[in-house]
Amino acid sequence: MNKHMTEFEEVVLELPGEVDDEVAGDIEKESVFVSPGIERIRVNADHKTARIFVRPGASVDDVMGKARRYLDVMAKQLSGFEIKVFVETRRRDRGPYQADVNEGLVQRGWMHDYGKGQVAYSGPVLRLVKLINDRAGELYGKAFDAKDGHFPAMIDADTLHKCGYFDSHPNAVTFVGNIIEDIDALEEFRLANSCSEGAHMPPHDHVHIDGMCLNPAACFPCYPTLTGRTVDGEAYSWLGRVFRYESRNIRGLDRLYEFNVRELVFVGSEDYVRACRAKALPIVEELAAMVDIDCKVQTATDPFFATVSAAKKFWQAAQEVKNEIKIPALGADGEVKQLACGSINLHGNFFGKRFDIKGSDGEPAQTGCVGLGIERWVLACFTQHGFEPSRWPKDVAAKIFA
Ligand code: ATP
Ligand code: ZN
Ligand code: MG
Repeated sequence: MNKHMTEFEEVVLELPGEVDDEVAGDIEKESVFVSPGIERIRVNADHKTARIFVRPGASVDDVMGKARRYLDVMAKQLSGFEIKVFVETRRRDRGPYQADVNEGLVQRGWMHDYGKGQVAYSGPVLRLVKLINDRAGELYGKAFDAKDGHFPAMIDADTLHKCGYFDSHPNAVTFVGNIIEDIDALEEFRLANSCSEGAHMPPHDHVHIDGMCLNPAACFPCYPTLTGRTVDGEAYSWLGRVFRYESRNIRGLDRLYEFNVRELVFVGSEDYVRACRAKALPIVEELAAMVDIDCKVQTATDPFFATVSAAKKFWQAAQEVKNEIKIPALGADGEVKQLACGSINLHGNFFGKRFDIKGSDGEPAQTGCVGLGIERWVLACFTQHGFEPSRWPKDVAAKIFA
């Protein structure tokens, strides 16, 4: 019998094995993508069972089948990796962490939250965004002779496919749609909206999705520009606009749909790319010191959505291909959590091969990148110093609270 829930119901499922804190967090975060019938999944304190919150009207068979499949794959993501720390900075400010920073910024009129993962900002928030972005750009220019660039916010699905994004993060993709080129469809849409109160969306069969997406990772649009070239040790840097569909996880500056990433990409030999990664660490340290924040750079193990095998996560940690900049901030529950504020990645020759970029030896070039999530840096800075200028480093306060 296919039972349907008439009200919210909690069902407990056993995980295939015990998971660590990090995997438990990933299971909870990505659970918004499992089924429209599942409100959320929470891992119990025993780390061996999980509660599935089933929505009214959902078919239990359907929902439980999906929840079980999801938990099976996610729980097999390897637990208990040794995390290596490469950089650690300590702030001088001894004041407490500021709670409810997002609300505080809105109250002060420095930020407007549109409510769907997009924010507008001005005043001290805007000046801090500019300060961090400009300083990172300056340091990258000095250390790597990085060339400036500008890239579009939209990206071709074929390029994203080549980048392997549909394979690793299918849940985060956003497609751009247009009304079909048809006079009747256009007129229907126009009329439906001409005197309506809210917007009327066109019916699905009047929309075509033509293979354009919103760019979900800052570095992707740079690779097609290098196709067919031989690149012998070059660095590029820019401020990229990034879009990720985060579903119900969206929250303030922590988790936006649309955000900005100061990106740095290196292309060349393996030695060059590895040397660049090493040179990037003191720059992160310098940026953290400039705004006087606690911060760490450490090995990362990313969640890949549950349709991807756990092997990817293992590969990432085993090769130390991704390091993450972690800055303490406060979660929705007021507890201190480590906010991922940037990543430092080695890609091997993956993009070199996919986009036909060669190194000086004629082999596919190696690449690497550093991406700083600027809005998360801003959130972390306000969390660690609050709204009182006297707690901020003098020269930063003079620039942003002016
Ligand atoms: P998370 O685990 O929090 O989802 P991530 O592993 O997806 O982060 P990356 O793919 O490494 O993040 O992206 C690079 C940087 O972009 C992150 O370190 C973070 O600073 C920023 N970032 C990622 N997703 C968001 C978001 N939804 N809102 C704001 N900043 C983000
Ligand atoms: Zn990148
Ligand atoms: Mg993410």
